[in-house]
Amino acid sequence: MPVTRREFLEKSAAVAAAGFVPRLPDDFGLNLSAGTAPGSLVEGSGAPAVLKGRARPCVVSSSNGLRGVKVAYDQIVSGADPLDAIIAGVNIQELDPEDQSVGLGGLPNEEGVVQLDASCMHGPTRRAGAVAALEDIATPSLVAKAVMDYTDHVMLVGAGAKKFAKAMGFREQELLTEKSRQDWLRWKARLNANDAWLDHDDDVRIKFTTGTINMNAVTASGDLASVTTTSGMAWKVPGRIGDSPIVGAGQYCDNLVGAAGSTGRGEANIKTCASFLIVEFMRAGMAPRAACLKALERVVAMTETRLLGPNGRPKFDLEFYAVAKDGTFGGATLYSGGKFAVCDERGARLEEAGFLFRR
Ligand code: ASP
Repeated sequence: MPVTRREFLEKSAAVAAAGFVPRLPDDFGLNLSAGTAPGSLVEGSGAPAVLKGRARPCVVSSSNGLRGVKVAYDQIVSGADPLDAIIAGVNIQELDPEDQSVGLGGLPNEEGVVQLDASCMHGPTRRAGAVAALEDIATPSLVAKAVMDYTDHVMLVGAGAKKFAKAMGFREQELLTEKSRQDWLRWKARLNANDAWLDHDDDVRIKFTTGTINMNAVTASGDLASVTTTSGMAWKVPGRIGDSPIVGAGQYCDNLVGAAGSTGRGEANIKTCASFLIVEFMRAGMAPRAACLKALERVVAMTETRLLGPNGRPKFDLEFYAVAKDGTFGGATLYSGGKFAVCDERGARLEEAGFLFRR
């Protein structure tokens, strides 16, 4: 159901005012059992999958969404809209100053400025919204939804995105935490041994880091939604936009089929439009995990030589997450050892992701 501008502003204000950081509840047992729910999609040869009966409500996300999938799941089983529910889920990471990959506290670009990207899709209404290189607003997922709800556009970037967010009532704030500023200064100092910045011997941080949260949900009536939000690649060139705000790359959702999203090296994902591809593989009858693995094969095939190791494998990692309309789900990464978060009737837990290559 469309929200009025007033309802939207009240909700956003509540999120912004919350200010607290929910902690991991003790009862979030880390059940590492693998496997997905039995499917009930009628598999076709390229025809859209058709859901018989009701779906199993389910929320799937990157592993940093373990708290968020529980929040989102509880909301969807109480009747909330799936996009509202998963945005509430990712808001936890966006507002957590300790999570240096998203929102407040995210690692900055090479000039020390935090620039955020996000996009979302709402299956039932077939709408999408996105923002990129957004500064000074902690919850880009909500701004992306506002673009979707209140404009005739899909994507706003940079200064225009910030101006829009402020007009919509979002609060401007400094997103660079002291911890992230210190990390940036250390990175900067170590760039060149001969410059005027003294090196910090205590620093072992890798040159570039990534991190993001993607979350996808299906309700009992088979309605789907997806959202991805990030501070992008640490120390990026100012203005660099990753895959997260690109509809079809960072996330994608088709209410007839399923939803998918990604984390990891955005440059590799943008070239393959992998979230769209995963949904298309599911439309053709593949299970979510198999669809994620198949998309990873495409990523490898599209990797430029300079990013391949001597063994012909990519030097980066990329993670995909997917849920089908019937509530089956899966995730896959290029390299073994990856996990993703899921919440369904069995509770919130981490599951092992499928992989193409053993580490
Ligand atoms: N995909 C994000 C980006 O490239 C980063 C990440 O997921 O780690 O901006």
